[in-house]
Amino acid sequence: MHDHECRVVQSSQIHTCTRATCLRFVRHGNLVCKRRAPWHLSVEEYVDEHGDWNPKRTYGFLNNYCLAISMTICCNNDIKPLTNGKETKDAIWYKTDYATKKQSKNNNVSALMVKALLYHQDHSDHIDSLLKHNHMLLFQCQQAVNREMELSGPQVMAYLMGWGDNIHSHHYVTLYWSLVKRALLAAFPQLDQQHSRQEHRGDELASFSFLNFIVETYEESIPSNEHVKRITSSLPQRGRPQNERSHYHEQHPCSHTHCQVIWCKGHNTLTNIVGPWFPHCNDPTTHDLYCASMLALLTPWQEISTLKEDNTT
Ligand SMILES: [Zn+2]
Repeated sequence: MHDHECRVVQSSQIHTCTRATCLRFVRHGNLVCKRRAPWHLSVEEYVDEHGDWNPKRTYGFLNNYCLAISMTICCNNDIKPLTNGKETKDAIWYKTDYATKKQSKNNNVSALMVKALLYHQDHSDHIDSLLKHNHMLLFQCQQAVNREMELSGPQVMAYLMGWGDNIHSHHYVTLYWSLVKRALLAAFPQLDQQHSRQEHRGDELASFSFLNFIVETYEESIPSNEHVKRITSSLPQRGRPQNERSHYHEQHPCSHTHCQVIWCKGHNTLTNIVGPWFPHCNDPTTHDLYCASMLALLTPWQEISTLKEDNTT
């Protein structure tokens, strides 16, 4: 029994990193295993109060295995306990992708079509009607693509049983969440990230209108080695000069982790304004809202209540 276990584990459980399976290039051109092998070693199994866990492992390239599965089917298996909702969700997506054979790549469709077209040109001399000619060409193209298509078991069963392209186990209703979100943000403006970024932006950006602020800048996390960079920033830097950065005011929740970066000249960013149209300037019933919207969009402000001072109209 023990001998059998040793042979199965030795032949199928050892992780070997190769370019074809798991090695990926990361920054600076280093090759790193995407499965993060070799794994953390531990003399015994543990689960701590933060949900971190490790199986007993004395060799860094051995997949976790379940003895019963390994002994029964004699193949590689990699087990892990699911300690939280995110990992459970990820595992279910992963399995569903496999089971339903999602269509990921279709970049050989045009090559298949060309093959069908060439075949059609060689084998269609006997057809005299143009309509039949085209009908046959379409049929052959469809056949060529269809023959190479990968179908999942559930999909094949659904077609065989005549259930159609999709089966819904539940009935769905639409929920317009943007309405709820707008009500929430009106009640608690501090929850609005874009608004909060604008309100607590650094002094370098004080003259930017809201539109310019959105188009001309973007948020970026501050790298952990930033303090080193600040010390060495007086030294000549290699590579392209860094874009200008602006730090948030202290009150911003992300002032220590994120900053605003100003795009360099000639960037190609534009706004995509989502939501209803702006009110029309010639419509007297919405003229005030129009003026307020334009002021909010095109003038610099940090708190929206300061757009209209007591003495302005
Ligand atoms: Zn690997």
